[in-house]
Amino acid sequence: MNQHALSNDPAAVIAADRAHVWHHLIQHKPFETIDPRIIVEGKGLRVWDIKGREHIDAVSGAVWTVNVGYGRKRIADAVAAQLTKMCFFAGASGTIPGAQFAELLIDKMPGLDRVYYANSGSEANEKAFKMVRQIAHKHHGGRKHKILFRERDYHGTTITNLSAGGQQERNAQYGPYTPGFVQVPHCLEYRRQDGLTDDDYGIRAADAIEEVILREGPDTVGALCLEPITAGGGIVTPPKGYWDRVQEICRKYDILLHIDEVVCGLGRTGTWFGYQQYGVQPDIVTMAKGVASGYAAISCCVTTDAVFEQFKDDTDPLSYFRDISTFGGCTAGPTAAIENMAIIEEEGLLANSAAMGIHLKNNLHALMDKHAVIGDVRGQGLFCGAELVTDRGTKDPLNEKQVGAIVADCMAQGVIIGATNRSVPGFNNTLLFAPALIATTDDIDQITDAVDRALTRVLG
Ligand code: PMP
Repeated sequence: MNQHALSNDPAAVIAADRAHVWHHLIQHKPFETIDPRIIVEGKGLRVWDIKGREHIDAVSGAVWTVNVGYGRKRIADAVAAQLTKMCFFAGASGTIPGAQFAELLIDKMPGLDRVYYANSGSEANEKAFKMVRQIAHKHHGGRKHKILFRERDYHGTTITNLSAGGQQERNAQYGPYTPGFVQVPHCLEYRRQDGLTDDDYGIRAADAIEEVILREGPDTVGALCLEPITAGGGIVTPPKGYWDRVQEICRKYDILLHIDEVVCGLGRTGTWFGYQQYGVQPDIVTMAKGVASGYAAISCCVTTDAVFEQFKDDTDPLSYFRDISTFGGCTAGPTAAIENMAIIEEEGLLANSAAMGIHLKNNLHALMDKHAVIGDVRGQGLFCGAELVTDRGTKDPLNEKQVGAIVADCMAQGVIIGATNRSVPGFNNTLLFAPALIATTDDIDQITDAVDRALTRVLG
């Protein structure tokens, strides 16, 4: 078969997909009897599948990525023009869109100075880990090499990222892991690990990090890597006092604060970055999904000058960051990212994300009055979760099968929502909502109305 023989006929596409595509995140056995879903078109918040069915996408491309919505011709046109002129050049050279996007990005991130380009969230995080390790070798005799990560957080799919992953179910079956990564406790107030009052909990959760640092030895710890809001681990918004204390601890022990903005970056929470909700000043920030809203593959590892300066040394020719990302030299990414950022600015999508996030949270709280199964509603901007429990007193999680049935019922109604997916053993019980930042109150109402009907149908 050659490319001219390819057919867009639904039966042919489905047959080719079923025969040869290995889908992400799913068991393939069911595809022996049901058709794989093929998405063919998108406009705004809506997508159409190959069978012509329309869906409202409440999760921005399944994994909270398409922040500016589908069908942005402006991005496609800019990428086409750039690729025609200069598609790719890597190694030690730069490109025009690479330089321009870096300047625009740094303008949104006071205190940060340098952008290192890569392709995926996993890769950007791996760059950050390598920077920390190189700083340890170069400036601390190799000792300050440990990297702390938090229970429930996720940083990517490679073996080293799984080694830094706080989601046991995702990690299982892929060991042995990369050494030197140490877990600190989660900060999920709803399932707090002690009996303290709410006001104290944030401080206590951060103090637990200090305990780990003291146990490991502060001179062995190079960095603390945290999601600003834990995403796939259950939409965990940090409790009051948490971030102030985290910052204080990092400064006290000379530990780099690495914030993983792969999900929250570029407006998801109502500010450019999630950390900006909490007034912290990170040393390293990684980002991916929303950087170009999925129109091109791009990720960034952004650092302060203080981090960057540690890779300069006239006396040592090997002091540079000894890393490359081939496709960090593809101009499609930064070109799409420039347009993506302009759309967010021109259409006021930060403010819309903040306002619609409040509307979404209000709707979910209203559903709580009607459905006892909703134990907790959490979120920031257009990034919200509803944790489902069998009993609000005991907080026993609703089982995964029923959570799956609720998601499937919404899907049958033409609304694509998400749920925590095989991440924390026994706690894959949180419904996830992250529509494009262009969502209107009508869109949000349609999404939560579908959830309302699904909860009634599945749980009675
Ligand atoms: N960090 C976080 C917080 C994520 O949610 C993800 C992906 N869901 C990643 C990193 C990894 O990104 P990627 O899949 O692009 O490698």
